[in-house]
Amino acid sequence: MRSEHSRALLLATQVTGGSTSQLERRLDRSMVAISVDAEMPQSELAARVLITTLRRGPGHLVLIRDRLPTRIVDALLAACAAVDPTRPLRVARRAPDDLTARVHVGPSLPGQGIRVVPDGCGAHLVGARTAVIRPARAGNALGAIYAAALGAGEVFKHTARVVTRRRVVHRHLRFCPVTLSTDLSRSPALQGPMLLGLALIGIGAIGTGIVLILSELDAAGTILAVDRQRYALENRGTYALGGTAEAESAPWKVDLAQQTLPRFDVIPFPEPVDALVKAIDSGRAPWLPLVLTALDSAEARRDAQRLWPDRLIDAATGDTMLGLCDHRHGVDPCMMCAFPVRRDEPSGVERVAERLGLPVELLASAETVLTEHHLAGLTESQRSRLTPHLGKPMCGLARAVGLTELDADGFMPSIPFVSLQAACLSVGRLLATHLDVDTPGNFVQYDSLIGPQTASIETMRKWQGCGCTTRARAIETVRAGRAISRS
Ligand SMILES: [Zn+2]
Repeated sequence: MRSEHSRALLLATQVTGGSTSQLERRLDRSMVAISVDAEMPQSELAARVLITTLRRGPGHLVLIRDRLPTRIVDALLAACAAVDPTRPLRVARRAPDDLTARVHVGPSLPGQGIRVVPDGCGAHLVGARTAVIRPARAGNALGAIYAAALGAGEVFKHTARVVTRRRVVHRHLRFCPVTLSTDLSRSPALQGPMLLGLALIGIGAIGTGIVLILSELDAAGTILAVDRQRYALENRGTYALGGTAEAESAPWKVDLAQQTLPRFDVIPFPEPVDALVKAIDSGRAPWLPLVLTALDSAEARRDAQRLWPDRLIDAATGDTMLGLCDHRHGVDPCMMCAFPVRRDEPSGVERVAERLGLPVELLASAETVLTEHHLAGLTESQRSRLTPHLGKPMCGLARAVGLTELDADGFMPSIPFVSLQAACLSVGRLLATHLDVDTPGNFVQYDSLIGPQTASIETMRKWQGCGCTTRARAIETVRAGRAISRS
């Protein structure tokens, strides 16, 4: 197993119950066959993202040629080889006998397999042979990439043999990352070209997913791209962009974003987030009122909050969980409310544990499932707050209430389908903002192995002791100054 796959392996041992070496052999020997219905809108994009996402992990991949046009076969082979030419996509006339999983990018498949179909901004994922997929409309690029990310997650349940209690094998899943609902007809039609202006802070596993989606949408505009690092070999196994060439040439991640987004005016800022705040106030970088963050530490999130934008959409992953925190200035909890610094005062965990009426140790026990028995003796409001989380593990509850101290290293980079689903949620919220779609909640999270149909969608309130409330006037002055220098 290569070092770039070690994260997936580490994660997978937690959900499969097997030893590392057993799992390593299983993943290395796995054989996944992919077929594509070229007639379906966005099928080529969905197939390319599915194949490259799978190629970032171990195992064998076979493309079933069927009647697929040569141009598409060649494009898929090239995309896969760009990730890792030493483990090519094999082309075959029919599915091999010793398959671990079979995926079809399209609505119909004779025989058993996983089917993925984009539908507007959302996607269908079907595992049941008898389920019929009738898309309400043609998929767009977000729908296609979300379909691919869901498909790669479904494949992983088979290749890693995820234990039953940690996963749901879907019969017919529908979900839209814009409306956060299973009703795909509610997602807005995208009228291109969309004009977007935003800062993207963090171009890692989730950030490259965001760049990929933006590059495929009919959109243009200005993006301030912020990341202090260069691309490295270990990124190939977890990111949505880059492969062997980038692992060798090691471009700045901001430059990789710029190359991927030719329709946008990308302003690269290859420095840390705290340097960006200084650069904006000295006129060396523009202030953009819309910020997407994809960061791996609470500290970096708090630094990003000091930009005090109109809106900050923070995407995150941890193990198999993913989610977002949506901050509208003056309305929602800021990153400092959500990710408080530990001091002598009660920590975020203690404060939240007290509010929820649960012991700190219970909240910190990530795998423990919340049951009715934990609610005994709580107040009516504590009970009603916790009831939606019954049957879910504590790690989910902790994330739903914005706790990160529980995993001191912050959010770990995940296997790529988890990060890519987080990127889809983030761009989904961006599009909802852009199109004025009413979206529920300011905290959203779900377990990628269980599925978005059980997502926790919550409206968290500001912490009254936070600087966003106690220093509200000073913050308004800072914001006004930045808005003036912008105009
Ligand atoms: Zn705050």
